[in-house]
Amino acid sequence: MDQDYPQNVIVAGTGPAGMIAALALANAGFRVILAGPAANRDDRRTAALMSPALAFLDTLGVAEALKRNAAPLRVMRIVDATNRLIRSPVVTFHAGEIGEEFFGLNVPNRDLNAALEQAVAAHPGIEWRRALVESWSVGTDRIAALLAGGEEVSGALAVAADGRMSPARQAAGISTSTRAYPQAALVVNFAHARPHGSVSTEFHTETGPFTQVPLPGDRSSLVWVVAPETAEELAALDDDVLSAKIEERMQSMLGRVSIEPGRQIYPLSATLAARFARNRVALVGEAAHVFPPIGAQGLNLGIRDVQELVAIATENRADPGAPAALAAYDAKRRPDILARTGAVNLLNRSLLSNMLPAQMMRSAGLGVLGAFAPLRAFFMREGLKPGSGFSSIFSRE
Ligand SMILES: Cc1cc2nc3c(=O)[nH]c(=O)nc-3n(C[C@H](O)[C@H](O)[C@H](O)COP(=O)(O)OP(=O)(O)OC[C@H]3O[C@@H](n4cnc5c(N)ncnc54)[C@H](O)[C@@H]3O)c2cc1C
Repeated sequence: MDQDYPQNVIVAGTGPAGMIAALALANAGFRVILAGPAANRDDRRTAALMSPALAFLDTLGVAEALKRNAAPLRVMRIVDATNRLIRSPVVTFHAGEIGEEFFGLNVPNRDLNAALEQAVAAHPGIEWRRALVESWSVGTDRIAALLAGGEEVSGALAVAADGRMSPARQAAGISTSTRAYPQAALVVNFAHARPHGSVSTEFHTETGPFTQVPLPGDRSSLVWVVAPETAEELAALDDDVLSAKIEERMQSMLGRVSIEPGRQIYPLSATLAARFARNRVALVGEAAHVFPPIGAQGLNLGIRDVQELVAIATENRADPGAPAALAAYDAKRRPDILARTGAVNLLNRSLLSNMLPAQMMRSAGLGVLGAFAPLRAFFMREGLKPGSGFSSIFSRE
């Protein structure tokens, strides 16, 4: 390969996955060129980040800054709020059941983006070009990106963290399967009269999940998945009317609700890349996998992409974009990504489906989970970190 560029890595995209990848690769000693605009400070979502993801962010020096406006998740509950013939029992997961103080923290995305942006801008190993990549040229021993403004940068490896439409993925010739869902997520934060007790509740409805997640104080974030036209209607309501609708949907579980300013709508879809690396491009985050927000999986999975990629790039330091390194990354990420995308999409489709067998399957699955503590513990451990459910079973034998 061209010795002028042995350790340059181009990271395309300045969403959370791209900034985390840039920091982790730079910490591992690679010269990182990050391409993308200023970080999004207007993202009203929050991300429930599980303890392993937070531990990784801690190694990048950004976890501490997140704690100020974040709240711990000690209990996660699934409530079947459908009016269907077959309904599931309530399933409750307590972090204490698996010896953890909490599962993770609910972090405002704005805080996450701000902390990452600050760390990226201060890192001597990262050259940040605040420009989009306009086109890619893929060679056998290096890859080059033409940036808006005319500069060309090149490296041994390109990390595609450029989101669901991922131009870098397309340049690498990686195909995807995509499914549009007749759903959109209304996102809003709200204050409530009763304390949440660090409990997050995911109500499963016929249009998708309605998920309340704790924030500091008597406040919570909400992801309300409905038909796209309903999301528009809800978002256009007066504060008082929308607050009353949210309270009603939660059966006044947290008392009187007062929504905070700022509502956003996210259309939902699912995209899965056919492979996760090829032609000097490795996919991370939503460039690799997009699915509906059920069970707080998306960014946690994206952070695991970055962890595995950095480990493999480090093992292949002389040429982190070599075919063998990319094949190792693809093989390593495949089981985790397929398991999460498969489970989330199946659950989402079973909510939307009027078919009795789909409802029976969902109800039976949640019923067994609710009644059988060891299985619940297994799922909780797997939810935090893939493989840890299995290893805890074997360590007890
Ligand atoms: C309502 C909702 C709630 C969610 N809640 C959770 C949760 O609780 N927990 C969780 O783990 N996940 C959650 N997720 C998922 C999580 O938000 C996503 O996984 C995450 O935001 C994806 O980040 P990303 O960096 O991969 O992509 P993005 O944030 O989309 O970033 C892509 C970046 O690429 C840039 N880009 C695009 N084209 C180019 C180009 N040509 N050149 C350079 N840059 C380019 C864009 O400008 C952008 O900066 C939720 C998702 C939704 C919709």
